[in-house]
Amino acid sequence: MSKVAIIGGGIIGVATAYELAKLGEEVILFEKNYFGSGSTFRCATGIRAQFTDEANIRLMKYSVERWERLEEELGFDINFKQTGYLFLATNEEEVEAFKNNIKLQNKFGVPTRLIDMDEAKEIVPILNTEPFLAGAWNPKDGKANPFKTLFAYLFRAREMGVDAREYTEVVGLEHEGDTVTAVKFRNGGKIESVKVDAVINAANAWAPSINAMAGLRRDIVPIKPYKHQLVKTEPLEPGQAEPLVCPPSWNDSYIIQDGEDGGIICGSGIEHEPKHPWDYEPTYDFLVGVLRYAVRIAPPLKHAHVVRQWAGFYAKTPDKNPAIGKLLDNFYIAAGFSGHGFMMAPAVAEALADLVSKGHTKVPLDWDWYDPYRFERGELRSSAFQIG
Ligand SMILES: Cc1cc2nc3c(=O)[nH]c(=O)nc-3n(C[C@H](O)[C@H](O)[C@H](O)COP(=O)(O)OP(=O)(O)OC[C@H]3O[C@@H](n4cnc5c(N)ncnc54)[C@H](O)[C@@H]3O)c2cc1C
Repeated sequence: MSKVAIIGGGIIGVATAYELAKLGEEVILFEKNYFGSGSTFRCATGIRAQFTDEANIRLMKYSVERWERLEEELGFDINFKQTGYLFLATNEEEVEAFKNNIKLQNKFGVPTRLIDMDEAKEIVPILNTEPFLAGAWNPKDGKANPFKTLFAYLFRAREMGVDAREYTEVVGLEHEGDTVTAVKFRNGGKIESVKVDAVINAANAWAPSINAMAGLRRDIVPIKPYKHQLVKTEPLEPGQAEPLVCPPSWNDSYIIQDGEDGGIICGSGIEHEPKHPWDYEPTYDFLVGVLRYAVRIAPPLKHAHVVRQWAGFYAKTPDKNPAIGKLLDNFYIAAGFSGHGFMMAPAVAEALADLVSKGHTKVPLDWDWYDPYRFERGELRSSAFQIG
């Protein structure tokens, strides 16, 4: 048994702690704020296997299979629902692109199909079908509650002995050559240190500063935070817009009915680099912009009251694919998840825990695709479709 430190108590860090504990490892998990306070509790709840490249499709197909069993495995209600994702095409070129994506997804067992607007209207009763030619529909995509999911993983991880500490910031790493030997952290007013055998950087938007602590260049994995906002309406009757509905050519704008209370979550690709790393301030421009799109997708929304608006970070790499793998002898990273870290967490956590503990995994995660050193080599992947 070795002692593994995980830095970052979002869904990736917490789920990886759980998976490592299952493998019998001793785990200490550090979160500088409260668990989930980074991107995780700000996400739009969406889970999809509708990607446009083999690596992400295969990873997400596996992840969706884990999501299907997660409630039973963790023993908690996490409100996972397979209510689908519906992408909408506004022109013939997009319809052709959808057909190609569907062919690729079907090849790897994801049951997406092209549907007409009559069927789309049956699935989303408040949909404005007029601007759209066709939809890419996968009924196995879905959504889950990020709060319940993180706390379910955390509860089970602690039960298996994980030392999970919140309000405990990691401030440094001690290393000898390519081996990290200890983690320094703030405990109240004091700086303490703990010897470890391996360290996982799961700090997402903050990951570059953790890499620097390990003696690496900050930009070895060039992750930048982008402020991404959401708006939520008052609860509507369930069944109005259960799938995530997105016309990608409308600035990646989307709506999805919250599986918990029936409010409609409205998102969009309108985003900004934050003015400073803790810039979580919602903006009026976004509110107006996102609602213009939302009402075009589903006109009855013009009668719904907005009850919340919030912001979080998409932690983006240049190709919008995460960096997952080994950076030094015993120093690993899983960060830079853009708009898809919540949905990927069950698969990524299992694969990463296997890598750290056993050196191999059955999870179909293409290590080469997500290699954290690909940016250094100038080998960008095709850009992952980034919305939730
Ligand atoms: C508005 C919005 C909508 C989204 N919608 C979706 C969606 O529908 N589906 C989806 O899959 N994804 C979505 N995402 C993306 C998703 O939220 C993230 O990819 C995911 O939560 C990343 O999880 P994480 O654990 O890697 O990072 P985080 O949740 O950001 O956790 C990283 C943690 O590291 C901690 N940390 C940083 N530095 C230190 C330190 N020195 N010491 C200790 N702790 C530290 C931070 O406090 C933070 O809590 C969305 C994101 C946003 C912002």
